[in-house]
Amino acid sequence: MSSPSIDDTPPHMSADTLVVGAGPGGLAAAMELARGGQRVVLVEAGQGLGGGSLFEGCVPASLLCETAHRLRDIHRAPALGIEIPGPWIRLDPWRSQAHVQETLLQIAADNLRAAQALGIQVVFGQARLRDAHNAEIARREGGQSQVQFSRAILATGSHPVRPPLHGIDLPQVLTADEVPAMTCLPRHLSIIGGGPAGVEMAQVFRAFDCDVTLIEGDPRLLPRMDEELVLMLTQHLINEGIELILGAHVKTLCHTGGDGLFVQYDAADGGCEQVYADRVLLATGRRPRLDGLGLEDLGVQYDARGVHVDQTLQTSLPGLYAVGDLSGPPMLANWAAAQGRALADHLLGRPARFPDLRANAAAVFSRPALAVAGQSESEAKAAGHRVGCLRQPMQSNLRARIAGQRDGRLKLIYDLDDRRLLGVQMLADGADDVIGEAALAIAGGLTLDDLANTLHPNPSLGEALTEAARAALFAGGNGK
Ligand SMILES: Cc1cc2nc3c(=O)[nH]c(=O)nc-3n(C[C@H](O)[C@H](O)[C@H](O)COP(=O)(O)OP(=O)(O)OC[C@H]3O[C@@H](n4cnc5c(N)ncnc54)[C@H](O)[C@@H]3O)c2cc1C
Repeated sequence: MSSPSIDDTPPHMSADTLVVGAGPGGLAAAMELARGGQRVVLVEAGQGLGGGSLFEGCVPASLLCETAHRLRDIHRAPALGIEIPGPWIRLDPWRSQAHVQETLLQIAADNLRAAQALGIQVVFGQARLRDAHNAEIARREGGQSQVQFSRAILATGSHPVRPPLHGIDLPQVLTADEVPAMTCLPRHLSIIGGGPAGVEMAQVFRAFDCDVTLIEGDPRLLPRMDEELVLMLTQHLINEGIELILGAHVKTLCHTGGDGLFVQYDAADGGCEQVYADRVLLATGRRPRLDGLGLEDLGVQYDARGVHVDQTLQTSLPGLYAVGDLSGPPMLANWAAAQGRALADHLLGRPARFPDLRANAAAVFSRPALAVAGQSESEAKAAGHRVGCLRQPMQSNLRARIAGQRDGRLKLIYDLDDRRLLGVQMLADGADDVIGEAALAIAGGLTLDDLANTLHPNPSLGEALTEAARAALFAGGNGK
């Protein structure tokens, strides 16, 4: 996969702002700055504009989830009276991957067109800072360019963590970065790491008819998400035939002599166990990509979590900014893009709203989806609120019933004193699309009363928010 060659790059350039890295953070910042009239040079070391998000992260993962969800829908079709002729439904991994690759390329090409239409000078190559106002670029097509700038934004993202395990470099061991290019399905896949990416990929490969084992060191999946909803989602994974090994610490990946390997781990009960796999997928988290930028020579402060930034995302070197995964958690594409846009506003002298964790939204694109906005019950308590929590089964929502959903749950977290909404957690097909409304309500300081009087189309999933708010009010604002 490669982007069109556009190497008419001059050897010397000048810019108001240099942006390094064209993932969601860098691209959003570059485009906003160009719209605001700045001269922007955008440098990207990878294959096209879109970053890890496009080529290795959310987009390919979501494309695979989409294919898996459609496959599951087809299997459920007979229950709706749809007859599927033929003995079986089969996935063609080559065509599926071709679809993924084509879509990624189209999005990258659209990004490039949009950036160039705004007058951004796009350079494909590796940027390294020489000082606070100069950088050199080793161009992809060969040769060097120099760029002089008033300020720079670093948005170089992250790369997968490869835990220091014996056997980690065996060819059967993959990271999320390699999944989009896989054209051959494993028969026995072991996934190490039960966070969002691990859970999503477990469901994808199980839907593709692979035997899947998911190994997580914590006693439960998705350790950072609401325990109650995670337990319900866990039951879905078990029902689908995904083998879960929880509270287990992988020690060694050991070659079998054949095509596969054994994943050896310390089990929760203290014993030493192993599981066979012909492929192992590492979903063990990501680390900021700090290398090659010249940060150490400039005295920019950073640690393993990322580059240190202040409230305006400025690093310890005045005029040098960092956004997205490079500046540490939460490592999310929406967060990176929101930082990029807010930073651009700030640099353009406009009022800037830097993203606030108290109103962030995120989702695991599982089936059913697990989506969250704002604070969890414990976070809200730790922040000093007197907290109310309303739990509502999704079966009470008409849309969820129509979609055939048998379980699922919505939780509203709110302040008992002023009835302001603080958090929403939702396990439901389509929750990922509804959660933005919750994030808007939280960011806007809306109350249960506002939510209870919001009109939604009927039947729709969003009505669940109104129904839950009314139930919380009926319970005296302290619903249980
Ligand atoms: C499997 C997976 C699934 C994910 N799913 C989701 C999801 O569903 N939702 C969500 O919000 N987030 C998701 N994420 C996280 C999301 O992809 C990242 O948070 C997001 O990509 C971070 O954006 P960024 O702009 O900081 O960096 P990136 O997207 O990583 O982009 C950084 C870019 O900088 C370039 N670069 C690096 N060094 C240099 C250099 N020296 N010179 C020039 N260019 C350089 C890189 O080539 C890269 O293109 C997922 C991640 C993974 C791995």
